[in-house]
Amino acid sequence: MKVIVQKFGGSSLQTEERRDHCVEHVVTALRDGFKVIVVVSAVGRSGDPYATDTLLSLIGGIAPKVSKKEQDLLMSCGEVISSVIFSSKLQAEGISSYAMTGAEAGFRVSENYGNARILDVKTEQLENLLETYDVLVVTGFQGETPKGTVATLGRGGSDTSATALGAAVKASYVDIFTDVSGIMTADPRVVKEARHLEVMTYAEVSNMAYQGAKVIHPRAVEVAMQADVPIRIRSSQEQGFGTLIASSTSKIRGRDLDEKPVTAITHVKDIAQLKITGAGDQSKVFQLLSEADISVDFISIHADFLTFTIPVSKRIEAVDSLQSAGFDVTWTDKCAKIAVVGAGMTGVPGIAAGIVRALNERQIPIMQSADSHTTIWVLVAESDMIKAVNALHDAFLTVNRLEEE
Ligand code: ADP
Ligand code: MG
Repeated sequence: MKVIVQKFGGSSLQTEERRDHCVEHVVTALRDGFKVIVVVSAVGRSGDPYATDTLLSLIGGIAPKVSKKEQDLLMSCGEVISSVIFSSKLQAEGISSYAMTGAEAGFRVSENYGNARILDVKTEQLENLLETYDVLVVTGFQGETPKGTVATLGRGGSDTSATALGAAVKASYVDIFTDVSGIMTADPRVVKEARHLEVMTYAEVSNMAYQGAKVIHPRAVEVAMQADVPIRIRSSQEQGFGTLIASSTSKIRGRDLDEKPVTAITHVKDIAQLKITGAGDQSKVFQLLSEADISVDFISIHADFLTFTIPVSKRIEAVDSLQSAGFDVTWTDKCAKIAVVGAGMTGVPGIAAGIVRALNERQIPIMQSADSHTTIWVLVAESDMIKAVNALHDAFLTVNRLEEE
């Protein structure tokens, strides 16, 4: 039995007309002889009736007064609604389809509400149902804990549901359908000239995703990589081939820009930079933050001060905890982290110089920087973010520029 997994994101399912296009993709896969496992996100975006953020707004947003377990119970309803809507549409087209929850589909997850990890996918029941039905519509983003409760996988988690199912049933492909034509050299909402990338390796995409390219969740890429299941990122509204993600691209890659040192520019906003001055045990700072489960980045340690960044949503908690421990803390909210990523940049001189030149030319101050062998990061003010991403895209990825060189 040939099986394909097709995941449809919230915006792809937003309206009747968009859902029609999603149905066309299912029909195409069935015609090609596949059984189809559809993974759905909640319908629409914030403000739409059953979107995750809208459900949360019913209890006053991410409400600390409501336990995380109950927040998860509420959020999980979005996908449940979505699965039945989509399955009923397929049935109306005469397709034999069955909607099921993540728990029914076999997702066993940790009890870490709001950010659960997939422990196992027990697909026996699902595979039996595939004998009877041509399409199974599974709720993404959620699974069952050892206690029998529902826990969600965190934002973007449906991507991971899809690749985990693809790995478990040894799917031919996992197709992630979304609102762009594939992975591009930068977020097309920010860079008008961003170009489509046809083929990429898991490692490249995982790096991009970790650096903020939210087109696919980084954990989803890792899960597919471990099982060597190819992923395609495609537009739900068109029939294009999209971006193929696989372990080796050398045979199919051809002449594209991919041998260039830089593959893409990514950005993440809503970052706060903290500075701790004065005496005190610097290691205590990181201990306190790790106890509060706050992820820290851009760590820069000096003799009499240290700076680092955290998500702005954690700033109040972090500052409170550090000040209570006697540290002297100052901070800057509204920073953005920009990454220049490319597996080919290892050992290539001049990338850092090119970054500094491009930002200096536009009078964009660099607040901090860091690098690894595949990535160079800079921290800038959020108000400079769009300008900075475009400047770096222009310097490294815009075709005319490359041809001139
Ligand atoms: P979905 O609801 O389908 O999961 P997301 O909003 O999570 O969709 O992801 C798709 C979005 O990712 C696009 O609309 C685009 O703005 C954004 N994005 C960020 N970086 C990139 C990139 N490098 N290539 C393509 N899309 C990107
Ligand atoms: Mg997404």
